[in-house]
Amino acid sequence: MNILWPVFHDPSYKPSLAERLAFHWQANLRMLRRPRDVVLFCVISFAPLLLLIGVQTIFPGLYSVSITQANPTPNMAPLMFTALVTLLVFLVLQHFAFMLAINLTYLHHVRSALLDRGIPLCPRCAQLLPPDTPDAGCPECGHPASLATMNDSVPPDVDV
Ligand SMILES: [Zn+2]
Repeated sequence: MNILWPVFHDPSYKPSLAERLAFHWQANLRMLRRPRDVVLFCVISFAPLLLLIGVQTIFPGLYSVSITQANPTPNMAPLMFTALVTLLVFLVLQHFAFMLAINLTYLHHVRSALLDRGIPLCPRCAQLLPPDTPDAGCPECGHPASLATMNDSVPPDVDV
């Protein structure tokens, strides 16, 4: 798992912007049909915000300055410092939460959307599979190719 940005597909596969928008749109629609993924995505994405609210509720003194008649112009520097550190920590945590959420709930929809469009990607590691050996496993991670072309749609001629 890349912690800076999700690896949606093999970097040697270079779709145009229009193609990229199209398969991400398909992946979004796929994800919306999976309530589990949507809920998990929201829970993970909002966790840092809940943590922030929790910290501010538990330690209200960190984020307030009292103005009294005896001290009408308090020193604002500690408050500014605390706010800045809080913001930085929050942004870092939010980024990691977002990456975790994407990797757990969205990434596999992107790879399925690419497979549906006929892009021969390994669904586990997103390596481009050689088109001439469709039955071979993934050369990168060994994922069996029979699974690589499987998706959740049932062919119309199969009785279930
Ligand atoms: Zn692979």
